[in-house]
Amino acid sequence: MEFDTIAAISTPVGEGAIAIVRISGEDAISIADRIFCGKESLTEVPTHTIHYGFLEDPKTKERVEEVMVSVLRAPKTFTREDVVEINCHGGVVSVNRVLQLVLREGARLAEPGEFTKRAFLNGRIDLSQAEGVMDLIRAKTDKAMNVALQQVEGRLSHRIRRLRQTLIEAIASVEVNIDYPEYDAESVTLAKLKEQVIDVREEIVQLLRSAREGKILREGIQTAIVGRPNVGKSSLMNSLVQENKAIVTDIPGTTRDVLEEYVNIRGVPLRLVDTAGIRETEDIVEKIGVERSHQVLKEADLVLLVLNSAEELTKEDEALFQAIEGLEAIIVLNKIDLDQKIEEKRIQELAQGRPIIRASLLKDEGIDELEEAISRIFFEQGVETTEMSYVSNARHIGLLEKAKEAIDEALHSTEMEMPVDVVQIDVTRAWELLGEIIGENVHDGLLDQLFSQFCLGK
Ligand code: GDP
Ligand code: ZN
Repeated sequence: MEFDTIAAISTPVGEGAIAIVRISGEDAISIADRIFCGKESLTEVPTHTIHYGFLEDPKTKERVEEVMVSVLRAPKTFTREDVVEINCHGGVVSVNRVLQLVLREGARLAEPGEFTKRAFLNGRIDLSQAEGVMDLIRAKTDKAMNVALQQVEGRLSHRIRRLRQTLIEAIASVEVNIDYPEYDAESVTLAKLKEQVIDVREEIVQLLRSAREGKILREGIQTAIVGRPNVGKSSLMNSLVQENKAIVTDIPGTTRDVLEEYVNIRGVPLRLVDTAGIRETEDIVEKIGVERSHQVLKEADLVLLVLNSAEELTKEDEALFQAIEGLEAIIVLNKIDLDQKIEEKRIQELAQGRPIIRASLLKDEGIDELEEAISRIFFEQGVETTEMSYVSNARHIGLLEKAKEAIDEALHSTEMEMPVDVVQIDVTRAWELLGEIIGENVHDGLLDQLFSQFCLGK
């Protein structure tokens, strides 16, 4: 494999009197040599030797630092590349100056964990070291978590990162198994992996739930008012809104557009959507309304299905019951002030246990009962205001759902006793999907992620 030359400060800044700038790669020695003033040229010294001298800025000829430089030639180095370690005595400022000099001479600043990654990719790490790697990953996690907790950054990314961490650990342990089959711990790995993956799944489900709750609290319960033309949808909306924004008329199908109102019903935020009747229609203008109605139903958290109790139930009404199958709904039997023709028994069948409210919107009857039913539904579902959600964005929710599916696939595979690397594919997919949420969609970034767990310069 071909790599460029990288450099980083490899001792924790501020720790101890000596700081090391480590350079690795083909040009490591020549870069160091260009800035080093000592008895001999670094390009000529034997491998694994240490040299005393000064660093000099080649441009200004200024002496930067008194140093001890180790020259380590490939392949017997940590990265299996040529490595130079510049030991400087100074503090943060001088070690940074040395690093800047090295970078100016052509090295690239190493990514976190990049030295270790190279060691791994160049085949330098064996099984026991790989296990050490896992330990290190774990150790770094706690720290990273503590830091993240203190950060003001979104709690969502924090949680997503933690989930990804769990997944990456699962993936990493599988990786070890694939690379070192003699290690023969497949069954142990599978059990462990399953455990971790189940944990992640549970958290995603929680996040999705809180997403829904958060959306409800922020945007209101998306409530669709549906019904045939002229049954009283606009009247219902008006009653609830108590201002005459929606147009009420005697001509069927006048509510051609979808109207929206935000209302607060006994502390329950509702976003009311009045739709044109859902029915087959020739009228283009109305058709737009009808199509929108289907869309509105798709997005609805709650449906208020309005029926005209002064007429017999029609096929359209029955079709509407079908359209709201599986949705949270309240049936409003309107116009009870008129002669009743609707067969209530049939309504009860169709309602499937959902609340039925008898109302006369003309006479302002039944509104209280309806409001009562709405708040009961809302509070019985126990929307928790404490978890005011991190997830709001539809893209995030979609990705969370996809990640959950991938995890379900993985769990299914473990159930089917599929080989562990098959399971790994789905776990990796879940990891990628979660990464997209926090803008870390890295297709070949798996290793980067794995190795970035290390401190810079390691
Ligand atoms: P939409 O087409 O479903 O929106 O129905 P509207 O709200 O526009 O109402 C259609 C007609 O029915 C209007 O003339 C309303 O005044 C009338 N209406 C609404 N509710 C009632 C009610 O409870 N009783 C009676 N008698 N008429 C009503
Ligand atoms: Zn209307």
